[in-house]
Amino acid sequence: MFAYSQNDYYCEQVPLADLAHQAGTPAYVYSSQAILQNYAAYTQAFGALPHTVCYAVKANSSLAILALLAKAGAGFDIVSGGELYRVLQAGGDPSKVVFSGVGKTAAEVEYALESGIHTFNCESEAELALLDAKAARLGKTAGFSIRVNPDVDAVTHPYISTGLSRHKFGIAIAGAAAVYERARQFRNLVAEGVSCHIGSQILDPSPILEAVDKVLALANTLRAQGHPIRHLDLGGGLGVAYHAGEKSPEIRAFVEMLSSRLQASGLTAMIEPGRSIVGPAGVLLTRVLYRKRNGDKEFLVVDAAMNDLIRPSLYRAHHEILPLRKNSLPLVTMDVVGPVCETGDFLARDRAMANAMPGDFLAVSTAGAYGFVLSSNYNSRPRAPEVLVEGATWRIIRQREQYQDLVRGETL
Ligand SMILES: *Cc1c(COP(=O)(O)O)cnc(C)c1O
Repeated sequence: MFAYSQNDYYCEQVPLADLAHQAGTPAYVYSSQAILQNYAAYTQAFGALPHTVCYAVKANSSLAILALLAKAGAGFDIVSGGELYRVLQAGGDPSKVVFSGVGKTAAEVEYALESGIHTFNCESEAELALLDAKAARLGKTAGFSIRVNPDVDAVTHPYISTGLSRHKFGIAIAGAAAVYERARQFRNLVAEGVSCHIGSQILDPSPILEAVDKVLALANTLRAQGHPIRHLDLGGGLGVAYHAGEKSPEIRAFVEMLSSRLQASGLTAMIEPGRSIVGPAGVLLTRVLYRKRNGDKEFLVVDAAMNDLIRPSLYRAHHEILPLRKNSLPLVTMDVVGPVCETGDFLARDRAMANAMPGDFLAVSTAGAYGFVLSSNYNSRPRAPEVLVEGATWRIIRQREQYQDLVRGETL
């Protein structure tokens, strides 16, 4: 959905340089078609196998994006009460919401029960006890899965790998059956699933498949012991291509591998993709402010910074940076840096890239996931607006913050 036509870079039918002129920079821009296509790739690949695709809200939680997915029939994977509030505001169906996370508070559990969400992925016995107590008080029963830690190594950045026994997530798979057994005491809980999520930005799906085999074996054991297990939640984690020319796993091929494993089980498949739905569907537009040389290093100072997109600083993540209007000059090797007062404030280092000049616009690619949601007001910078492109039209789905927004809620 993002491509050059002649020398101009487009999102769907919208030339992004025009959009940047009108909306200003920095600005996040998303392609609605790309989001819907990625979502459809998941649902279509499951085919006749009963399934729910629960979009992981934390990847990009803007209301218009949630509404787009809700209309397409998506469920939602939430990790906080705030995310549930957003889903409900966006018109999401609570009966398709799964609540994940290692530290749900009593207030969040209550809010989720009152809202009638579908199910809870629980990560400790204490959490099961809390859920049972809250459900009893509200006169409800709650469906739960235990998030098991299958002890497989998702080959990804250590901050976003979650499936090893030394991580804080889940309950060790070896002890999980005993936990389900003890959970029989909880009168207001129904053991309706098993869940896992081993990490994010996983480019080789074999660890996910290994985890699925382990979780499926556990589900069969549990059913043999009389637990009413109906679904397997396989988490999210499928990676996307951040480097030009990099191969990322195909959603369809990946889902077909999952489906074939679940086909004979009679279980419903749940899946919680975030990045693979919205990541490639977004870019961050920025404008060049200055070019400068320190020693033998060339710097491109742009108006987007680590407060807008922290992935390069936090994970050393790579994002391709493309000019919105191509020129025919030879590439230059530069650091692309923002205005924030930190040496760690960079979008790219030693990057051979287009010979851009002050005033030129650039697109930081593949910024739709973990981009805006991780942005902050550091250095008292107002957060960027968000724009949704639909065919030849676009609209602002979040206004650029103003200075007044920076001090809202503060008192002298
Ligand atoms: C973050 C997260 C996801 C989504 O991961 P992606 O890599 O964005 O697909 C899904 N499930 C859980 C429990 C998560 O924490």
